Amino acid sequence: MPAKKSTSSSAASAKWTKTELNAIKKELQEEYERLQEELATTESDIAQLVSDSGDGAGDDVADAGSKTFEREQEMSIADNARDLMDQVEKALAKIDDGSYGICESCGGAIVKARLRAFPRATLCIKCKEREERM
Ligand SMILES: [Zn+2]
Repeated sequence: MPAKKSTSSSAASAKWTKTELNAIKKELQEEYERLQEELATTESDIAQLVSDSGDGAGDDVADAGSKTFEREQEMSIADNARDLMDQVEKALAKIDDGSYGICESCGGAIVKARLRAFPRATLCIKCKEREERM
């Protein structure tokens, strides 16, 4: 008779202790501050690029084009930072209301190792993989 493989992987380990949550919270808050700084820098770069292009009557087309390109790049960095800040805020709110570590799609527990690597994760690995395949 073949030995039964244990299929009940410890769902109990999904419970987070206060210490663990505080550590994650601190990490998220630090990330938020970092993103805020990045966003502020990027936004001032954009403002600079916009004001540069305002008096660029003498710019040749190639120069104007590279400035536009640069501005678009900066804007996508800013968008990305805003996006990440949203995710960090969401994760922090989840820690506060006790729903941190629960997959938004299937309601299952997200493994701790995943959250330690990606504290902003709101989907378990399975749901994330499914989403990425779509
Ligand atoms: Zn899931």
